[in-house]
Amino acid sequence: MPRIVVVGSSNTDMTVRLPRLPAPGQTVLGSSFATTPGGKGANQAVAARRAGGEVVFITAVGADDLGRNALDLYRRQGIDISHAAICAGVSSGVALIFVGDDGENMIGVASGANHKLLPGAIDRLPDSVFRAGDVLMVGLEIPVETAMRTIERGARAGMRVILNPAPVPQSPEAISRDVLSLVDVLTPNRLEALALAGIDLKKHSEPDWSLVADRLLDTGCRSIIITLGADGCLVATGDFKLKVPAPRVEAIDTVGAGDAFNGALAVALSENRPLAEAAAWASAAAALAVTQPGAQAALPFREAIDSLAAQTRFP
Ligand code: ADP
Repeated sequence: MPRIVVVGSSNTDMTVRLPRLPAPGQTVLGSSFATTPGGKGANQAVAARRAGGEVVFITAVGADDLGRNALDLYRRQGIDISHAAICAGVSSGVALIFVGDDGENMIGVASGANHKLLPGAIDRLPDSVFRAGDVLMVGLEIPVETAMRTIERGARAGMRVILNPAPVPQSPEAISRDVLSLVDVLTPNRLEALALAGIDLKKHSEPDWSLVADRLLDTGCRSIIITLGADGCLVATGDFKLKVPAPRVEAIDTVGAGDAFNGALAVALSENRPLAEAAAWASAAAALAVTQPGAQAALPFREAIDSLAAQTRFP
């Protein structure tokens, strides 16, 4: 059975629920506060595990309680964290999250140890981590050079590479064309797709996602899935484009929707399912995730994903 190797961030999420998101300089009083494990990499690893994948998680945490507790939690869920780094002299990553009553969110991240996951750490991993036919899922809450080095090593070994370009680096050119040409599936959300395609949102209030996808395919990646929130996603390769609608659900917290999508997508691809079918299955996973509060707590298990996917009519 192919494995999924997730290389990315681990954070502790500290979430405050508010009636509405604050504007800059504004204070909004809310009621509840919760500390939960998070970080895009960790969320994707847990999402893939719950969706039925065999998961290896490469990440870095600080030598502190937040980091130790996070790794312990992943180990107990059956995720292989034997190659995770524990870095002295730096805190574990922390994300401060506001969630409004309408389900929208606002997030600030202190990267901490995530920024200590340097290219050398990837170079030092044994070859057994990078197995031909496995799926490699890389995010960008770690240094971009590390993400690039990981993709190069994974592709060279014959892995299928998913790049979730989140967040897009300040200079999007840091994601080189050479590396993009090694990416099997690029999975930006709307804002990330526009940033990578160099399109100014103000000038295109209603962008043509098909054209955005074309522009991104021009960078050399083999296929692209632009996630479009409640509107589903657009799957595009050189051969076809397909809009996959999202199952209709009542969204209460969209934190981690993209991570649920990416984790499930990786599992479906590890099972050699075709891209459009994999995207539809991932849409079911992400739809379930937005019906529950929190990031990792909301991530659905395989049975629930299968059940919603079976009830949903996809094109
Ligand atoms: P991100 O969480 O990275 O910003 P999106 O907002 O595009 O990404 O959401 C990722 C995926 O989650 C979407 O493609 C869709 O499948 C699913 N999703 C998000 N919001 C909803 C919603 N309100 N209803 C159903 N599915 C949703």
